[in-house]
Amino acid sequence: MKIKAQFAMVLNLDKCIGCHTCSIPCKNVWTNRKGAEYMWYNNVETKPGIGYPRQWEDQRLHNGGWHLQGNRLALRAGGRAHKLLNIFHNPDLSTIDAYYEPWNYNYERLIDSPRRKHQPAIRPVSQITGEPLDLKWGPNWEDDLAGAGETAPKDVNFKDLDHAAYLQFRSVFMFYLPRLCEHCLNPACAASCPSGALYKREEDGIVLVDQERCRGWRFCVTGCPYKKTYFNWKSGRAEKCIFCYPRIESGQTTLCAHTCVGRIRYVGIILYDAERILQAAAAATDQEVYPAHLEILLDPRDPQIQATAHAQGISASMLAAAARSPVYKLIKTWRLALPLHPEFRTLPMVWYIPPLSPLQNYAAEKDSGDILDHMRIPVRYMANLLTAGDEAPVRLSLHRLMALRQFMRNRRVGEEKDSPRQSETGLSESTLEEMYRLLALAPFEERYVVPTRGTVAHGSTLEVQGLSGFADEPS
Ligand code: SF4
Ligand code: SF4
Repeated sequence: MKIKAQFAMVLNLDKCIGCHTCSIPCKNVWTNRKGAEYMWYNNVETKPGIGYPRQWEDQRLHNGGWHLQGNRLALRAGGRAHKLLNIFHNPDLSTIDAYYEPWNYNYERLIDSPRRKHQPAIRPVSQITGEPLDLKWGPNWEDDLAGAGETAPKDVNFKDLDHAAYLQFRSVFMFYLPRLCEHCLNPACAASCPSGALYKREEDGIVLVDQERCRGWRFCVTGCPYKKTYFNWKSGRAEKCIFCYPRIESGQTTLCAHTCVGRIRYVGIILYDAERILQAAAAATDQEVYPAHLEILLDPRDPQIQATAHAQGISASMLAAAARSPVYKLIKTWRLALPLHPEFRTLPMVWYIPPLSPLQNYAAEKDSGDILDHMRIPVRYMANLLTAGDEAPVRLSLHRLMALRQFMRNRRVGEEKDSPRQSETGLSESTLEEMYRLLALAPFEERYVVPTRGTVAHGSTLEVQGLSGFADEPS
């Protein structure tokens, strides 16, 4: 077993209000530069919809990520020889229109206008060419289902569903999907780069682009199935979300998490067995990738795992943070959070708690069938998004969230504590209380457990966690 530590994030979609606050500080700090105008390391999409860039989820168009060739894992876009043959023409590369041509306005024309009979109007002008533009797309073009009648039928998550029925006024549904680089365990961006410029940091799994080595071939842009690597037209190099590593290194969480208005984000450390990555990514069917992925995530409170990890060089502060990791609980202990499109086989490390949408018909609660079949968002849609179409893990997560809601309601209104739904999900009262605390009340330091990179002092979290035997050497 080769144990490695990796940052992961969980987003609770039940609480995202689509305010885009997370995207703005990220933009201001990291991509507010020439050549990066069209890049959004973090963007928030409305579902159903086709997103940014257009139809990024449809790998029949983009050829991103991995697939099985026989029982071997291979890049969809072809291997090294194929890339070298196409090095001056990447056939899978999207044009700028799939993202959007960044624009601005000549505000002075309005502000400095003298008084006159007809006030001036301003037209958007391209930030690249300076020419007037007809706006046709953008990173939040489909906000709150705008234009969904036209675009949402192309949403691949409607697979096996009658999209026309769900896009009618009376039965339409929506939720928000904030997206960033997944800092995958098996990153297709890195495997696609002919120059070896993309790499995964040994100490915390953050995926970065070495700007010195990048030659601007753009195979990482097409190789990433989440379309979270971008080409900077000014520098001629690729760039991507850096998981705010300068902040992370000083013990702070990422900007998108720090500023999240809905308090939907959780950041923490996950320990995993690096020797089993390929085995998990090459699971026999798309639906088996998620359970195989879960399987390689290791219990950070298991003393044997801790001892092995420390002996293999994982720092004591990392182990202490892993033991307190909110993301491990949400992903593995409680199975509430699920990976985004596991069928891309990159083993993504940004996970999502599915939204518990309202019931369409409360009377249906008394039916003998599964209450989730009466929810506004079809379970099948969520399963296509999060578990390669397998409904069982989505149902487990939603049932647990529903049991939690009922448990707290019963407690508030003084009804009996145990409910049939609670016992069905196998959650004890103390687990429900712990879940409630983390999902609803947890303060900053419980939602974001980021290790500091220094020597660990007495009285630190290590001692609190009973891990003081693993204290780092003074540096
Ligand atoms: S999401 Fe894309 S850019 Fe990020 S690590 Fe995975 S493959 Fe690479
Ligand atoms: S800041 Fe939080 S609540 Fe607002 S859109 Fe971003 S993830 Fe959602």
